[in-house]
Amino acid sequence: MEKDCIFCKIASGEIGTEFLYESDDIVAFRDLNPQAPTHILLIPKKHIPKISEIKKEDEALIGKMIDVANLLAAKENILENGYRMVFNCGKDAGQEVFHIHLHLLGGRKMIWPPG
Ligand code: 5GP
Ligand code: ZN
Repeated sequence: MEKDCIFCKIASGEIGTEFLYESDDIVAFRDLNPQAPTHILLIPKKHIPKISEIKKEDEALIGKMIDVANLLAAKENILENGYRMVFNCGKDAGQEVFHIHLHLLGGRKMIWPPG
């Protein structure tokens, strides 16, 4: 737990947030400023600042986050039409919160390349 990290506070329950999923090591909740009809953030409870900083020991955790994102996509009824998973990493990608989070976006047609 990092003292000034908003996502550590959400994961620990210090900031009350409705969880769509919770396990020993992961929580998922809706983005405050949704960019699509479904916009869910999946975070590890462990504080990792950037996806570029994951270690070998985090492999299973990251795999599990993707697995849970697929599960939530099914619950949101976007499996068939499709969805996007995004990790923003660093300045050029526009990362704002330095505790890794997987964006799950869906429910509308998206464009490529992204902005
Ligand atoms: P980033 O740009 O770092 O990949 O994305 C950070 C995301 O976190 C943004 O989409 C932003 O709307 C979301 N966010 C920031 N603070 C909070 C918060 O306190 N609660 C929730 N639910 N989402 C947040
Ligand atoms: Zn954190």
